[in-house]
Amino acid sequence: MNKKDLTSFKKILIQKRTELLNKTNSAQREMDNDSDINVGDEIDTASHNSEKEMYFELAASDKITLDSINCAIAKAEKAAYGKCECCDNIIPKERLKAIPWTRYCIQCQEEAENPKK
Ligand SMILES: [Zn+2]
Repeated sequence: MNKKDLTSFKKILIQKRTELLNKTNSAQREMDNDSDINVGDEIDTASHNSEKEMYFELAASDKITLDSINCAIAKAEKAAYGKCECCDNIIPKERLKAIPWTRYCIQCQEEAENPKK
């Protein structure tokens, strides 16, 4: 991968990381506000809880994405970005454009998701 591509992918990764961090922060803020407003409001508790659970799920998957993004940024700094962590093959640029923080090539990803029995 040439330097120009590497720089532009790194830019996308940093931008996405900022986006995710902002999202996590604002979700956290909303939860804090909600607990203030809804003190003593028992009617809405059931629906409210499931909403909160959704927030937690979102935060968990966002965390995984965030980890991968941090990892990808670290790799970009060492110019090791764009290589599969499993088989060391170059990940096609089209795939990186779709998921810039991907750690594996399509073959390895598919094998991880559908292990042979
Ligand atoms: Zn691979």
